[in-house]
Amino acid sequence: MSSLRFQSINDLSTTPEGKVAGSAKITAIFGENVFTLKTAREYLSDEAYKSLASSIKGGKRIDRAVANQISAGLRQWAEGKGVTHFTHWFQPLTGTAAEKHDSFFTLKSDGTAIEEFDGAALIQQEPDASSFPSGGLRATFEARGYTGWDPSSPIFIMEIGQGKTLCIPTIFVSYTGESLDYKAPLLKALASLDKAAVDVCHYFDKNVTKVTATLGWEQEYFVIDEGLFNARPDLVMSGRTVFGHAPAKGQQLEDHYFGSIPERIYSFMRDFEEEGYKLGIPLRTRHNEVAPSQFECAPIFEEVSVGVDHNLLMMDIMDRVARRHKLRVLLHEKPFAGINGNGKHNNWSMATDTGVNLLAPGKTPKTNLMFLTFFVNTIKAVHDYSDILRAAIASAPNDFRLGANEAPPAIISVFIGQYLSKVLGDIKERVGAKFDEQDEAILKLDLHKSIPELLLDNTDRNRTSPFAFTGNKFEFRAVGSSANCANAMIALNTILAETLKTFKKEVDALVDKGEKKEIALMHVIREYVVSSEKVLFEGDGYSDEWHHEAERRGLPNVRTTPLALDAMVTEKAKHLFEDNNVYNHAELEARHEIELEKYIKKVQIEARIMGELATSHILPPAIKYQNTLIENIKGLKEIGLKESTYSNQKQILEKISEHIGKVSELVAKMIEARKIANAMTDTRTKAIAYCSQVKEAFFDEIRYHVDKLELLVDD
Ligand code: ADP
Ligand code: MG
Repeated sequence: MSSLRFQSINDLSTTPEGKVAGSAKITAIFGENVFTLKTAREYLSDEAYKSLASSIKGGKRIDRAVANQISAGLRQWAEGKGVTHFTHWFQPLTGTAAEKHDSFFTLKSDGTAIEEFDGAALIQQEPDASSFPSGGLRATFEARGYTGWDPSSPIFIMEIGQGKTLCIPTIFVSYTGESLDYKAPLLKALASLDKAAVDVCHYFDKNVTKVTATLGWEQEYFVIDEGLFNARPDLVMSGRTVFGHAPAKGQQLEDHYFGSIPERIYSFMRDFEEEGYKLGIPLRTRHNEVAPSQFECAPIFEEVSVGVDHNLLMMDIMDRVARRHKLRVLLHEKPFAGINGNGKHNNWSMATDTGVNLLAPGKTPKTNLMFLTFFVNTIKAVHDYSDILRAAIASAPNDFRLGANEAPPAIISVFIGQYLSKVLGDIKERVGAKFDEQDEAILKLDLHKSIPELLLDNTDRNRTSPFAFTGNKFEFRAVGSSANCANAMIALNTILAETLKTFKKEVDALVDKGEKKEIALMHVIREYVVSSEKVLFEGDGYSDEWHHEAERRGLPNVRTTPLALDAMVTEKAKHLFEDNNVYNHAELEARHEIELEKYIKKVQIEARIMGELATSHILPPAIKYQNTLIENIKGLKEIGLKESTYSNQKQILEKISEHIGKVSELVAKMIEARKIANAMTDTRTKAIAYCSQVKEAFFDEIRYHVDKLELLVDD
């Protein structure tokens, strides 16, 4: 291993800079590989175009005959760009996107070779899906799972090397209709939110007919040289380093944040951005992050479902493009101990088809009331369902971040800034009181101007909240960098849909009793402010005091994934997801099972790699050095030098021997613990055993001794 590393370090000075993509204007290439409605206009008949457009906008079904026309137009467009194959592109629960490529090429019954792509192939496919996780929903002998075209996501062409593939975004469902992916439940959650939010919007504006949730993600990542990556079996296999003493210089000087971007990385960024632009991903921001070699990219926000697709695509593209540059991109939540990990902030809001951002403070009393309605409902939703949100971001790698005092803690709380805290405080004061001038005064506040101004300072200072209001959107910061955003977005949009539905019932009940609409709204808003108050926190989320304070408030602090996932299968969760038509009970149980299994496998892989590395990579050089020292001491003694000439060597030898002993003893014990866990049949019990008996019991301690050896042994 060490020779590989020396070689790589040597090679660094000769590694070419990587080609920087041409400097075309972004607008010249933006979306060129996307079958947008504008492109569709060119390639489709009126009938086909209209059908596609109304399916995209209103979710209307496309019939087979029209599908044949659309597929013909698609093939014509794609072939014009050199495409030979197509694939249904979907988002199984493994976390990464899946594809199975078929060529347009086929043989007719008489053997004539033709290119063909019919409507049936566009609309539905049956990938052999037996090895995608299904949590028991699809017994393996019944391997059938279907992918079905989702016209709400644009079709695109993926260029990989010389190959170009037409990718059709699809949902993935079992033979009996249960969803096996992230996309189907996401679309259902968004539909539920749309309906609930439109109903509430009608208190303020009858012209609203659609509410679209919006997502702007910020993707953090590390970049390292490919040679150095390959020299680390732990990075290659688990995405993180399981051993390694912190270097003398880490991030303590904070000289990397927003610093100038190294040239080699810059050309990598330019290159993946260009690939992203061609796919219509509106990348806007790039900068260095806090840790050495850590960076971030972020696009302009989009509709949630499109944003989710684009993030998944971007992660894939970044990985591929990095290899072109002899680099590797690390999307793992915690590739290196002791320096910051990677997160993926999910900036989220809702927009009406009348062009209003529902989380943007208003300019008039009426729009202020609308803003307060959605703002307070969001806080209430997070308060009532914080366990659901926590479960949605739970994963083995994210456990290293949440609660590691450098990322938002596992305690879900909401930051809203001083100004809005005061506004809510004033509203709360008035619980039980009659609506009068004081309420009027609150609604007349110039929230539109005051909030952004006052928030700017506050939000920039408070980076420690898992869920923060940032002026005209909420930012869900606890999402893991390698996660599919869909999971967090399914949870968030569903809990808000549910909260808005209850809100509407409560307001309507008051209106039915003869209360004026504004008064009824203000009344329920007040109740919500009071009942969700304890989830609001403005202080330092990384501090110990907050952990105590949160406990006092009764806020859950679930640190580990196996336990956090429990929230997926409570009666509360089942009602929530079923009432909003997102998951039925069987689907929830299946997902719970899948997440637990993912957890077990990840910890198992890390445990194995730790054992193997310790035994075959760490101990051999340590023992070799032990022998060198023994030889040295023997020699000094032999030629008759006094003890003081070799007493230091003896001390080092003792230390090394002690760490060697500890490492082999602990590794043996960890293997035993794994065997016990492996024999467990209940998935949840097994996951908990992997968490406490394998990971928590051994990982840190083994690492401690290995990292000590690193400081003592020459390499
Ligand atoms: P900051 O960098 O302070 O977090 P930015 O204004 O740069 O704030 O926004 C960060 C991200 O939030 C970007 O991806 C941006 O597109 C996104 N964003 C802005 N407005 C919205 C919105 N209404 N809905 C969802 N995301 C949004
Ligand atoms: Mg941000």
